[in-house]
Amino acid sequence: MKILVINSGSSSLKYQMFDYENKTVIAKGLCERIGIANSHFKHENASGYVIDEGRSFKSHSDAVRTMIEALLDPQSPVIESLEEIAAVGHRIVHGGPYFAKPTEMTQESKDAVRKCFPWSPLHNPANLTGVEVCEKLMPGIPQVGVFDTAFHQTMPPKAYMYGLPYRYYEEHNVRRYGFHGTSHAYVARRAAELTQCDKDQQRLITCHLGNGSSFAAIKGGQCIDTSMGLTPLEGIMMGTRSGSIDPAIVSFIAKLNDDATKDVDYILNHESGVRGVSGVSSDFRDLKAAAMQGNERAQLALSMFCYQAVKIIGSYIAALGGIDSIVFTAGIGENDDRIRKTICDDLSFLGLTLDEGLNASTHGEEVLISAADSSIEVFVIPTNEELSIAIQTVEVLGLA
Ligand code: ADP
Repeated sequence: MKILVINSGSSSLKYQMFDYENKTVIAKGLCERIGIANSHFKHENASGYVIDEGRSFKSHSDAVRTMIEALLDPQSPVIESLEEIAAVGHRIVHGGPYFAKPTEMTQESKDAVRKCFPWSPLHNPANLTGVEVCEKLMPGIPQVGVFDTAFHQTMPPKAYMYGLPYRYYEEHNVRRYGFHGTSHAYVARRAAELTQCDKDQQRLITCHLGNGSSFAAIKGGQCIDTSMGLTPLEGIMMGTRSGSIDPAIVSFIAKLNDDATKDVDYILNHESGVRGVSGVSSDFRDLKAAAMQGNERAQLALSMFCYQAVKIIGSYIAALGGIDSIVFTAGIGENDDRIRKTICDDLSFLGLTLDEGLNASTHGEEVLISAADSSIEVFVIPTNEELSIAIQTVEVLGLA
């Protein structure tokens, strides 16, 4: 069975075709700079056939058409006909209060995706465009929306409500939604398969540490709290995002008006985080290199990041009433053994001990990095959001 996964952004469209039985990627590609000059197409399939060239994408329809042509390309076909595609799974960023699970796209569900536009004005419209274009160009193939927010819908009200006038919740749905849900769900499921403890009782914290970073507290497979909020700005400081700050700073900066070309939203999303503090980069590899050369602000940014991570993990251990397992995933979580060690060392008072050798040698593989006598299992589990979308698509349609 072949499942196509699509991540449609405002100016790009990424896709992966899965051979579902083997869970392998048989083709993948990227249409870049849609609607902008110098658009580019990259496609590769499992036989090593590659297309990598400039193409004109005036719209998302052009991009999807090009993807279909490449999949059917007689020189190295991935499929002989579109009918071979059992379903298409679409990443959709915000499901608001409407989607607690992946959902087949119908007129009603598309209307609900549209209602979420105000909370995700950059992503949701582009995600929905991807769905609508695929409906048109691949008629009869079921289209499923898989939502970044859905996994967190099991949070209780005490975790998702903000201390604001209740009318903002009632009239505008202002509440915590959380993001990276597809990734948290994927690594949590894997951790439940790998754990030594009873998976129905497992108290787990998943740490998705990438360009954007978030944490989830998970009990018996259900999310009970997460660090991102109404938007992906809340929580730990990130590459360029501030994370949680005193909310009064927003109006303070706005009143300063020291750079009229940028609003506070822009400053908090694009000029803050480890890049803002260090003045070096949002990329942890650059920060590490700068810190090694004695750059104090790079060192400060790294230690702030680890300190905030420990505080969030500590608060989630309290929320969960204890802890059995911690998972590190995404670019930093999978690759940066120093960050993992710093965070875990600060949790050693709980009896957490790392297998230092294993931690140091683990970069992007699935490994249990805690020592045999550790009170807490610590896993590195590479995330795979595309495969997770494919699995959820198959499950919701009952195709498996
Ligand atoms: P995104 O949120 O864009 O999906 P990723 O999960 O791919 O991000 O993470 C990207 C980040 O991971 C980079 O910005 C970089 O900081 C970090 N990263 C990737 N590889 C390494 C590495 N070997 N060591 C440290 N950090 C890394």
